[in-house]
Amino acid sequence: MTLRIDKLLANIGFGSRKEVKKMLKTGVVIADGVVIKDSKTHVDPNSQQITVNGDVVEYKEFVYLLMNKPAGYLSATEDEHQETVLDILQPEDAAHKPFPVGRLDKDTEGLLLLTNDGHLSHQLLSPKKHVPKTYFANILGEVTEADREAFRNGVELDGGYVTKPAILNILKSGPQSEIELTITEGKFHQVKRMFEAVEKKVVYLKRISMGPIKLDEEELKIGEYRELTEEELEELR
Ligand code: URA
Repeated sequence: MTLRIDKLLANIGFGSRKEVKKMLKTGVVIADGVVIKDSKTHVDPNSQQITVNGDVVEYKEFVYLLMNKPAGYLSATEDEHQETVLDILQPEDAAHKPFPVGRLDKDTEGLLLLTNDGHLSHQLLSPKKHVPKTYFANILGEVTEADREAFRNGVELDGGYVTKPAILNILKSGPQSEIELTITEGKFHQVKRMFEAVEKKVVYLKRISMGPIKLDEEELKIGEYRELTEEELEELR
């Protein structure tokens, strides 16, 4: 795979295409021993050694990030008025143009994957794959065995859609309950609407796992992110 040197260096975070063009003119970029000054030059980062000021450039086509999303951010790549999860990323990660794999509501926290690998994203979101997603939630009101049974059988959401079987684990039941819910689909506001279907309200929602990937909140505090490990990536594929 070859790509233009200015695009490659901009993607890695060396600045905008314009800034990279300027930098190239100064003769600091070398590919396999040859100085590259023309921004239109195509290079193959997998087979050529590219250096900037003598430092070898590590190029990754794809990035895979695991974020502990804070409330208050949109799961989108841009928005005119509100902050998006991309605003949390360091410029060198944002430069790869990752996008969120599915959406968490603005007020939902927890596990969010971001990647620029459209194929993997599609795999994870495809309804055919039934990738399980587990959420922790605080619910206003008592959550009962009847709710557990209802979720197991499927509940009718506003609009008439009947959900696929979901596993409800009641951690604490009382005036404010704590639950974990595992669903294998991703309808709009699904968890909140499932509780609405049994006349209860979700007051706090956090995703704690997606397929084999679990959120470790000791390791990844809210608002932090890291790259997926090779093992995690293998498990996801
Ligand atoms: N279900 C919801 O209601 N909201 C989310 O953010 C995710 C799942």
